[in-house]
Amino acid sequence: MQYDHILIRYGEMSLKGKNRKHFVAKLYENVKSKLQSFPDIKIKRNRDRMYILLNGEDPQPVMDQIKDVFGIQSFSLAVKVNSTEEEINEGALFALTKPENVKTFKVSVRRVDKQFPVSSQDMNRVIGGHLLRNTEGYQVDVHQPDMEIMVEIRRDGTYITSEKVKGAGGLPVGTTGKSLLLLSGGIDSPVAGYLTMKRGVEIEAIHFHSPPYTSERSKQKVLELAQKLTRFGNKVRVHVVPFTKLQQSLYRQVPEHYGMTVMRRLMMRISERVADREGILSFTTGESLGQVASQTMESMNVINEVTNYPIIRPLISMDKLDIIELSKQIDTYEISIRPYEDCCTVFVPSQPKTRPTREKVNEVEAKVDFTQELEETLENIETLEFSEEHSEKENEFSDLL
Ligand code: ATP
Ligand code: MG
Repeated sequence: MQYDHILIRYGEMSLKGKNRKHFVAKLYENVKSKLQSFPDIKIKRNRDRMYILLNGEDPQPVMDQIKDVFGIQSFSLAVKVNSTEEEINEGALFALTKPENVKTFKVSVRRVDKQFPVSSQDMNRVIGGHLLRNTEGYQVDVHQPDMEIMVEIRRDGTYITSEKVKGAGGLPVGTTGKSLLLLSGGIDSPVAGYLTMKRGVEIEAIHFHSPPYTSERSKQKVLELAQKLTRFGNKVRVHVVPFTKLQQSLYRQVPEHYGMTVMRRLMMRISERVADREGILSFTTGESLGQVASQTMESMNVINEVTNYPIIRPLISMDKLDIIELSKQIDTYEISIRPYEDCCTVFVPSQPKTRPTREKVNEVEAKVDFTQELEETLENIETLEFSEEHSEKENEFSDLL
């Protein structure tokens, strides 16, 4: 006997009544795309479970991929047997004898197929008895077992699983709309993108780039970060905005103290135009309250004045250390700390206003007109698309750069 399936348990989507069908379909699509480098596996789904039929594929690399898919609460290796008492007993014995360091167990039967003649309770006892008779050194512990043998009796067969592996949680990417992620090369915004994706949101990124003040390498950094995010969302498009002319014009015309605030407002205005064009209904940023000058309550109030689109700020209340921890987990940290300049830091005045007011900034903006530069900038946006690398096309990204 060998484990021939991976059983996937859905996350909180199972709570969402009518939408469930749509959610399951999306999750199915996402799992399928994640596993495209395993041509032999088959994926089946029903309203509360998904089954990956391994067809001889080594389970470990498959599980390594599955753990990044949002919308999965947990998954387990499973062996499928025919729904007869004898075969179920045999399968349970196989599941129990595999792992080491297990002294106590518990059997949990779910009889989904009500035509199966023995009740769940009785099956628990039948299987438990069989396991105790055919092994040595194990005891039953229904409260804190070292191992829980889960048995799901279904019409098409019985799935027997042992260890439960925690999934990524969240909702399947693509089920809750799209957001435009303001992606810098820093530590925070990629983490913000990741957390938004976790809530089922598909991400497109926008990056403001000011050559020659910011180098080609700083842009590459951002593209590599976008590539990293495809691990959670398959495809990520990046809109690269040539920001130099606008920034130069801004710093010629706007009093230094207000430069940063006006620049951020321009970023939001451009982002809104791009979002409109792409049918995107919200923004995501890596802002965290109090971190830097632009992230005071006053600054956020003034910057936010130019758009009434929702701005998702997943990091708003997080500590930097926790953000760093997450960036290490999603493997963006090493890229983010490469020392290349960001457009905001290049032009940042020595003493930006940390407490701007709407009134004052509007007064400053009334004296300047960026319309022409803004339209020109919008026309010259370059859009790149990244998709997740699967082993057979490893070199795709290096060619692009
Ligand atoms: P990060 O680590 O994400 O760069 P930060 O701590 O450096 O954030 P800021 O520089 O104030 O903070 O930027 C706040 C947010 O503004 C960023 O998280 C990002 O969403 C957005 N942002 C900053 N610079 C850029 C840029 N060049 N292009 C696109 N978005 C940007
Ligand atoms: Mg930054």
